[in-house]
Amino acid sequence: MNAIQTPVVPAANRITIRNPATGETVGTVPCFGSEEISAAVAKARAAQSRWAQTSIAERMKIVRRFTQLVCDEKDAIAAVIIREAGKPVAEAISTEILVVLDAAKFLLNHVPEFLRPEPVPHANPVMKLKRGLLCREPYGVIGIISPWNYPFSLPSVQALTALITGNAVVLKPSEFTPFSSLEIERLLRAAGLDPDLLQVVTGEGAAGSALLQSTIDKLIFTGSVATGKRVAQAAAARLLPVVLELGGKDPMLVLEDADVDVASSAAVWGAFMNAGQTCLSVERCYVHEAIYDDFLKACVAKTVKLRVGPGTDPAADVGPMIHERQLRIVQSHVDDAIARGALLLAGGKPVAQLGANFFAPTVLAGVDHSMAIMREETFGPVLPVRSFKTEEEAVALANDSEFGLAASIFTPNRKRGEALARRLNAGTVMVNDLISCFGISEAPHGGVKASGIGRTHGHFGLEEMVWPKYLDSDGMPRMKKLWWYSYGPAFQRQMNGFIELLFSKDLTKRIRGGMRSARSYLQRKPF
Ligand code: NAD
Repeated sequence: MNAIQTPVVPAANRITIRNPATGETVGTVPCFGSEEISAAVAKARAAQSRWAQTSIAERMKIVRRFTQLVCDEKDAIAAVIIREAGKPVAEAISTEILVVLDAAKFLLNHVPEFLRPEPVPHANPVMKLKRGLLCREPYGVIGIISPWNYPFSLPSVQALTALITGNAVVLKPSEFTPFSSLEIERLLRAAGLDPDLLQVVTGEGAAGSALLQSTIDKLIFTGSVATGKRVAQAAAARLLPVVLELGGKDPMLVLEDADVDVASSAAVWGAFMNAGQTCLSVERCYVHEAIYDDFLKACVAKTVKLRVGPGTDPAADVGPMIHERQLRIVQSHVDDAIARGALLLAGGKPVAQLGANFFAPTVLAGVDHSMAIMREETFGPVLPVRSFKTEEEAVALANDSEFGLAASIFTPNRKRGEALARRLNAGTVMVNDLISCFGISEAPHGGVKASGIGRTHGHFGLEEMVWPKYLDSDGMPRMKKLWWYSYGPAFQRQMNGFIELLFSKDLTKRIRGGMRSARSYLQRKPF
């Protein structure tokens, strides 16, 4: 395979991207420095002031063309994703490309209505002569910093949402998966977007930090809690608004009435898809003691059937970890759990014959909250399972975490599941499914507690890309307003009477208050 070369910066300032399945070089990309990043932001700002003046129809035309290109070139795009992220082709198509196409459709269907100025009716009678409008204004230049685990869908959805609402974007992709973002840039340019409106600045953490220090107007950051905290501190120092989409430790609750076959299939997919490297992965599983043994048996039987291999193998179910450091974290969590008394039922070690980054899908039983595997984000193909006796205990266990991204509950009794869902502290709770909320374009995506601040996707995701401007227009331009100067006793009588008119419980007082207020107003000499 030919390595991809992008020109511009000398070799010393380039990062080499490797295929996580084979270790082969995928290509190299430049490390942008802070001056180049500032220059990119300045170009984006100039282009944005023109872009914000274009009609929504014009912006939608470009998004429409982009979606057509993504649809037509899906296999080639999937190949780029697989080469640098390692995931199975089935996942590259379903969780990356399909998600983007669906999100674009959502934007095309909703943006005209979303950006239409919204009337703000006034209840106060003296304000009824004014027309209130809520306008949604683009921030200007949105910085996007992305992780490696969904290198195409995450930045695409965020960039399309920013662009269609009138912003420009400067995108810093993960240093492990920049080519997927360069695909987004290529496709948007092919769709007719002014190249300055979306610029990809490649590099490591330092490039992200430089983007944060530049004159961007808002930052959408997706990544780990540790980096998210550093980003939040730097953003606070310059009052930069941020959305933080951070890590998770998502619990799955399996109630005693759950279908063991269905719930075990869900747990296995939820823990092992994308090799467990999904922010919404099942990271903790709690099963009612009445079905605990049967559930474990079913999970193990399904886990050992999974085919581990490179994403290029169409038969592969579970791909590699992104790099060896991630694999070592997974191994250390598994080892810690076993040392503290957990039972290893499947996997538990790397699959060295496939390459340096493959880890066998692992099932652990008898885990508890003293173990790192139940407290820290593992981000690998591990399903740790423990039993519970009562709903109360299940809720307490699920909520006993610093994270709050998502959760899932399995029970055929939807009413019971929904009632329980209300008690879980998570940005999303799914009843009888998991992870797929990310593919529901209408659903807001984001967490509580350490899992982040703000939302992407859906209506809330659109709101993050704009600031609300309240536009008020008075219907009596030739009239001096009741609350302007002059002050004095008549003004006080006018206001006291007005308060009684509006808020007194006593009807007589209200009528008298109204009359006193009107009289006092006529006695005043406004200037
Ligand atoms: P990471 O925090 O290591 O890196 C994320 C991005 O931040 C990268 O582009 C990186 O170069 C950049 N970065 C690093 N240091 C920086 C700094 N000081 N200032 C600015 N940018 C900096 O995360 P990762 O390993 O790439 O991704 C995995 C993490 O992302 C997991 O914790 C996962 O749960 C989380 N994630 C969350 C969501 C979500 O929607 N909530 C989605 C995907 C991944």
